[in-house]
Amino acid sequence: MTISRRNLLRGGSTLVALTTLGCETSSPLDAGLEDTSTPPRDTPAPEPDVREQPDAGPPLTGPFQHGVASGDPFPDSVVLWTRISEASAAVSVDYEVAEDPAFASIVATGSVSTDASRDYTVKVIAEGLASATSYYYRFVAAGETSTIGRTRTAPEGDVSRLRFAVASCSSLAHGYFHGYRRIAERADLDAVIHLGDYIYEYGTGQYGRIRSYQPDHEIRSLEDYRIRYAQYRGDADLREAHRQHPFITTWDDHESADNAWRDGANEHTDEKDGPWAPRLAAASQAYREWMPFREGEGGRLQRALVYGNLIELIVLDTRIWGRDLQASGSGDPTLLDEDRQLLGADQEAFLLGRLEGSTARWKLVCQQVMMATLPAFLNTDQWDGYPAQRRRVLSAIEDGGISDVVILTGDIHSSWAAEIAADPSTYVPATGAGAVAVELVAPGITSPGFSEGLAALYTDIVNDEAPHFRFFELVHRGYVILDVDADRCQSTWMHLDDVTDFRAGVETEAQTLDCTSGTPRWNPGEMAAARSDAPTLAP
Ligand code: FE
Ligand code: CA
Repeated sequence: MTISRRNLLRGGSTLVALTTLGCETSSPLDAGLEDTSTPPRDTPAPEPDVREQPDAGPPLTGPFQHGVASGDPFPDSVVLWTRISEASAAVSVDYEVAEDPAFASIVATGSVSTDASRDYTVKVIAEGLASATSYYYRFVAAGETSTIGRTRTAPEGDVSRLRFAVASCSSLAHGYFHGYRRIAERADLDAVIHLGDYIYEYGTGQYGRIRSYQPDHEIRSLEDYRIRYAQYRGDADLREAHRQHPFITTWDDHESADNAWRDGANEHTDEKDGPWAPRLAAASQAYREWMPFREGEGGRLQRALVYGNLIELIVLDTRIWGRDLQASGSGDPTLLDEDRQLLGADQEAFLLGRLEGSTARWKLVCQQVMMATLPAFLNTDQWDGYPAQRRRVLSAIEDGGISDVVILTGDIHSSWAAEIAADPSTYVPATGAGAVAVELVAPGITSPGFSEGLAALYTDIVNDEAPHFRFFELVHRGYVILDVDADRCQSTWMHLDDVTDFRAGVETEAQTLDCTSGTPRWNPGEMAAARSDAPTLAP
């Protein structure tokens, strides 16, 4: 079928397709555009693909089948995580942290207990560590020792260079986690920033059909969410990324349900799914149990991580904490309400307070949904659907003279670099004048972007109508390498050849852009070489 740009802009089902991209609802990219990734919901599931990854190793046995992980580095401490598999009673777990992978020089030890009330997960903060230092850690339980993890504390004071991977959107049903494996292999990362859609809640065959899910139905209960996290941590590639690097995570919708907001979700109905509050509580509890982050009061995710005078990471929850129901469209009378909330008033105050008070050169705002305006349609799930709050945040940046703000975004399964003005009418595409911040959007690890047909059409529209996007690519999966020094923040979009084939996984540098300190503009750059002094990967 051919579809004209005029038809695209006039609406109909293709416009619906666009508005639901990144929202992953039932049949988003249909309209005859030959997207084969998303079968209609509630059709019989295909035969699961039973191929095994060749590098997965033998089936894991013993108490540590879900690996080890670490997260939220401070200069003197880091969260360590593991889980005791197949336990049926309370277990005592010891941990050791060493300067070397042979554990000749142990610097911290401790013992904690876990039980069924927290799904036998272990989360402990290892303290008394030195800043800007890589450590190796392991757990001991029931006479057995875990694999060795590797982590790294944050630096203090003067910092010359930092390097992160930025990831989002790993729909297990859409393929293999080659992106996590490539991230695991990079010895020179300070941390992995994960912007959400770490798990997906669907049942087998509902969204993607390369791999089948455990449990095989859409997840709703605490037990369901726990089983899904356990399946994800059974994936060798994801487990290896956690083993080699600390993660800094926030969640998006699919850690609970598609296009969630504070009091509900797009496809959640009380009739089908039961009440929302206990479902969200179950999703939140499983996330807190399984993810290595420092929990705020009530389990809240907003927090800041300071990497000396170079970077402050401001981590937000735009998904649940304060989010109002998405507007129904451009004609929704509530769309322009001054008090329409994506963040919640308290989280907006937190964000602006951190931005205004930060002593770091670069302020990296780690959050979920795209802040830059997309042309031709209104995606009400993004900041476009919460314009008053976006204008307040950007105006505060402008009025406060706050420089070097970089928005980090996931959610939409495609690669973008944007320059963002508080008042779009002041933006000058030829020079970037008027912009107050830049944004980078990481593609999905596996979750599908635009179909080829839709991508071709929409590429023309963006090129014609949205010059604030300095780079975009709508199809490939991958992740971003963020390399930062005092002079520039560099973003490199790494793309993967094929996530549907476990034998694939070749990555290529798709684009490198530099933002020079003091000028919120993306310019072509040359990808910085890996650091030669990176500590050895965990054996
Ligand atoms: Fe996603
Ligand atoms: Ca999402």
